[in-house]
Amino acid sequence: MKDKYALVTGAAKGIGRSCVLHLAKLGINVAINYRSSSKQAASLSKEIEALGVKSLAIQADVSDLGEVQNMIKAILKDFPRIDILVNNAGIIDDTLLVRMKDDQWTNVINTNLNGTFYCTRELIRGMMTNRWGRIINIGSIVGSRGNPGQTNYSTSKAGIIGFAKSLAKELASRNITVNVVEPGYIDTDTVAVLGNKFKKSMQAKIPMGELGTPDDLGPLVAFLASDQASYITGQVISVDGGLAV
Ligand code: NDP
Repeated sequence: MKDKYALVTGAAKGIGRSCVLHLAKLGINVAINYRSSSKQAASLSKEIEALGVKSLAIQADVSDLGEVQNMIKAILKDFPRIDILVNNAGIIDDTLLVRMKDDQWTNVINTNLNGTFYCTRELIRGMMTNRWGRIINIGSIVGSRGNPGQTNYSTSKAGIIGFAKSLAKELASRNITVNVVEPGYIDTDTVAVLGNKFKKSMQAKIPMGELGTPDDLGPLVAFLASDQASYITGQVISVDGGLAV
């Protein structure tokens, strides 16, 4: 995989960071997108360069098409192309629908779903020309199952499933795979904001008895990006300690 180039969105920390590290361990060169975590992104970039791959940290808000286009232009000054896209950037803004404000709905949809759409659409032309590509979208088990207080978030993640399945069919003949990885509850900043009480109540519901870690996701994403996964497309794969079973 030494001549492959990847972009991971929202990659400075959490699940995105683990994806970057595991892609780099396969020899893949990685552009690290961040929105606000500039220090973590720069230090992660140095960390993977020490593994012998090329890297750059690049700021952009994926919910803004202009910023996505500028980010890709800037990456393509350093990288010859982008073969692998990991749509990982995501936010939550939870409340019951009866209290949900318009901007809570639109911000979550704009980041999680529209961000995925913008980054993917802007990159697939190049992958189609090269007749090789990997698009890996980070969904959530609540996209398949629903969750009270998360109508905005689960809608965005459910949308990603329809998006990925349709696109997998559009791009299969070009050797481009499109898949969704659905984390359950993974111990990152996203879950930390929900508090310890929530964490304990989730642990009790997870058959494996504990929250996952970002490194439960990174190796799977790297596998899906590899040549070994070339016949896997349109799939939704849960990593959740058995929660959704
Ligand atoms: P983190 O909060 O650690 O990471 C989320 C990242 O998304 C941040 O690094 C943030 O960047 C980035 N981000 C947010 N908005 C934007 C934006 N507009 N443009 C670019 N980047 C953005 O959380 P996780 O690692 O947990 O989340 C990663 C993905 O996994 C998300 O899609 C999330 O929905 C999904 N997920 C997580 C689960 C969990 O239990 N943790 C469960 C199911 C799904 P910055 O820090 O630079 O602002």
